[in-house]
Amino acid sequence: MDGRFVVPHGTELFDLHNPFTGAVIGRVRLGNEEDARDAIAAAKMAFPAWSRSSKEERVSLLKRMHDAVLARKDQLLEAIIVEYGAPVSRADWMAGHAANSFLDAARALQSYDLTQRIGNADVIMQPLGVVGLITPWNSNAGFICTKLAYALAAGCTAVIKPSEMSATQTQVLLEALHEVSAPPGLYNVVNGRGNVVGAEFTASPDVAKISFTGSTAVGKTILREAASTIKRVTLELGGKSPTIILDDADLSKAIPIAVQVGLGNSGQACINGTRILIPEARREEAITAIKGVIDELKSGDPRDPTTAIGPMVSQTQYERVQRYIRKGIEEGATLVAGGEGHPDGSSGYTVRPTVFADVTNDMVIAREEIFGPVLCVLTYKDEAEAIKIANDTTYGLHAYVLSADPARAAAVANQLEAGRIAINGAPHHPDVPFGGFKQSGIGREYGVFGLQSYLEPKALLGTVAA
Ligand code: NAD
Repeated sequence: MDGRFVVPHGTELFDLHNPFTGAVIGRVRLGNEEDARDAIAAAKMAFPAWSRSSKEERVSLLKRMHDAVLARKDQLLEAIIVEYGAPVSRADWMAGHAANSFLDAARALQSYDLTQRIGNADVIMQPLGVVGLITPWNSNAGFICTKLAYALAAGCTAVIKPSEMSATQTQVLLEALHEVSAPPGLYNVVNGRGNVVGAEFTASPDVAKISFTGSTAVGKTILREAASTIKRVTLELGGKSPTIILDDADLSKAIPIAVQVGLGNSGQACINGTRILIPEARREEAITAIKGVIDELKSGDPRDPTTAIGPMVSQTQYERVQRYIRKGIEEGATLVAGGEGHPDGSSGYTVRPTVFADVTNDMVIAREEIFGPVLCVLTYKDEAEAIKIANDTTYGLHAYVLSADPARAAAVANQLEAGRIAINGAPHHPDVPFGGFKQSGIGREYGVFGLQSYLEPKALLGTVAA
């Protein structure tokens, strides 16, 4: 806060758990409304000078932030494993991604014209002001860094409310960033509850924008509350993404990709492709292949490099997944793999990767975001029906198309209502916009689109002779 570590005014204590064992690993003191207001005041003080900083100053700061986080990568990786339970390989990617965000934002800024000439005008892309950044537990460090990097690149200052369940990751990051001599008040972090600290940020007339990543339910609350001050919002919300396997796909290639995108981040990713659409004519073959891949996956100890699925983050999340598995059985879907309970010999919040076949798109397990390793397999008769089922959802964050013919896959992808569509397992690219259609969100992050989301165009007419 204002360039210093301070003891919060809030007095509530909050336990942190190791999701693999369920044991309490720490206790933190949560900030309250007063802390939130102090953070906003510090960011407001810092804004005028930072908003006038040059591109070079911003790029230099972002590069130093990258170096500082990279230097603590091992510590961050350890925090992600212990506190969140991500399997080692995933945790390694997450820690690297957090550091790289600063370079991604610097690159976007360098390539971007902050003053653009249009007709008889100069259009100045002006930083919005103080921005409120709110992150979820499933990628806390990554979202703190991504949001902060693009906000600073744009010339904004920030108040940050990380997930209260991710305090160890937040601490490691802040210790790293503190080593970079940034002007005080540029970013101010209050670890506290969403309905306390997050709500204070959302209500404040001194906060120009909220960039939120989390559930659709909380996103709706923020959107409603933001209306009273006409705040700008970026909302990155939930998903129920479809993976369409076209009838020409080589299943030996397509199924491992479908399972990977379905269960990545232990099924706790907003972008998971959790509805796998297969051609009716290839039902048996596809289900056998899916079961074959799932049976090989190890769910359990995140430190074991052979583990593919780590534990769920909390007891609440564990129970949520169990509830949906029971719901799928009640609804009459066929349990092909997994089921209720822990994998053999495992404890804590570990779950069994689960696959349901004979799912219809009106079932609860096909409509609601489960946020755990539970996949639904649906069949379709022809391409048109596949597209119809894929789009029949309130969400629209991501989709996946698999085919032997990339041009055919692209034509199908073009008819899908989603912010990002990956063809044949194409990987994430940090310069490409990310965000959702429909109830998966508003706005885009990453690259130039992400940078623009912290800028407001101001037109100076008459600066250019007619
Ligand atoms: P959540 O909505 O419960 O919490 C997210 C953050 O919002 C937390 O920091 C929380 O404290 C805060 N919050 C809660 N109530 C608030 C309020 N009234 N005002 C302001 N802030 C408040 O989500 P979660 O359980 O932490 O994360 C899981 C959800 O996040 C899933 O639905 C997932 O799909 C979504 N998610 C989306 C993306 C994306 O980019 N679209 C990425 C990751 C996760």
